Amino acid sequence: MIPAVMPTYGRWDVEVDRGEGPYLYATDGRKFLDFTSGIAVTGLGHGHRHVVAALCEQANRLWHTSNLFRIPGQEELAQRLVDNSFADTVFFGNSGAEACELAIKIARKYQSETGHSERYRVIGCHGSFHGRTFATLAAAGNEAYLKGFGPPMEGFDHVAFGNLNEMRAAVGKETAAIMVEPIQGEGGVRAAPEGYLRGLRDIADEFGLALIYDEVQCGMGRTGKLFAHEWEGVAPDIMTIAKALGNGFPVGACLATERAAVGMVAGTHGSTFGGNPLAMAAGNAVLDMMLEPGFFEHVGATGQLLRGRLETFVRSYPKLFAELRGSGLLLGIRCIIPAADFVTKLRAHGLLTLTAGENVLRILPPLIVGEREIDEALDVMNKVAREWRA
Ligand SMILES: *Cc1c(COP(=O)(O)O)cnc(C)c1O
Repeated sequence: MIPAVMPTYGRWDVEVDRGEGPYLYATDGRKFLDFTSGIAVTGLGHGHRHVVAALCEQANRLWHTSNLFRIPGQEELAQRLVDNSFADTVFFGNSGAEACELAIKIARKYQSETGHSERYRVIGCHGSFHGRTFATLAAAGNEAYLKGFGPPMEGFDHVAFGNLNEMRAAVGKETAAIMVEPIQGEGGVRAAPEGYLRGLRDIADEFGLALIYDEVQCGMGRTGKLFAHEWEGVAPDIMTIAKALGNGFPVGACLATERAAVGMVAGTHGSTFGGNPLAMAAGNAVLDMMLEPGFFEHVGATGQLLRGRLETFVRSYPKLFAELRGSGLLLGIRCIIPAADFVTKLRAHGLLTLTAGENVLRILPPLIVGEREIDEALDVMNKVAREWRA
């Protein structure tokens, strides 16, 4: 018999009860060190006091109005994102996929508004993930996720991630935009090679395309800067964020330059829940913390520390692990042994981690993690790795 909860997930045998910072507690009393952060969502850890307080305060004041009203928290969060990014304007939705859908819509609208209504195609990269809606599935082109759901939505082309020659060759008369993750999360924690974003920017400018970054996973502080592309210093025209933006309260956003958003006038897009007062309270509280002086320096330092420990770890078990990847606190270990089995063993010993494409063990601690928890995680990883070899 089908469970009441539609069984689209292979769920773990952990019934969650409560969380505290980097720790998660199950209803049976087990305590876990959570290096998944709800898949890069709870960047500030579980139950962060400032975020909880902001949400409770807002809950007592006003939960929801439609977007027919001016919503002060929305104007504030949009302004802060604009002030801290390449963007001039922001639309709030409820998820990463919705933000990516809108990014594609904005790119097409931009072309249509600027005299190129024939340009509608988007070039994406193999190994990408942009969400589970029809357009975002088509944009990523992952066969496994498309299978059985009928013809994929038309208008998407795919090239190898990191290959500028392939990207340039794929541009045609109907191309509207390029869409990439600066660091592929689900695809295996694969960072763009140095110079890749610069090269994409040049191609986009040469052919009049919109450049879209999907920073749903790698953005919001994960790499030690607010947005991952800041490391390369190459701005997009449109960018999506979500996951860590609300620290677990559902919220996503699509950011754009004034030029790219030229056609997005009243009536062109909308959302019932998007940008509602509760979501905005959560997002503003998250930014309060992330924009504090020293926050990103801490993420950078902790990322370096964890990276150092993981490098030693990977080197210590050359028959088990092949390579360390990623940036900041978005890290992955390409495994020789099945990554999923290793993740299961770690979980049995109280450490929560994830897998990603290319047989990668994905490690996403909350950004507030300290040396003590890193040591604790490495103790578990070493114990499990030693037992594996034995
Ligand atoms: C998770 C993710 C999405 C989809 O976000 P949802 O909120 O699940 O719709 C899109 N892009 C990237 C890079 C992601 O990691």
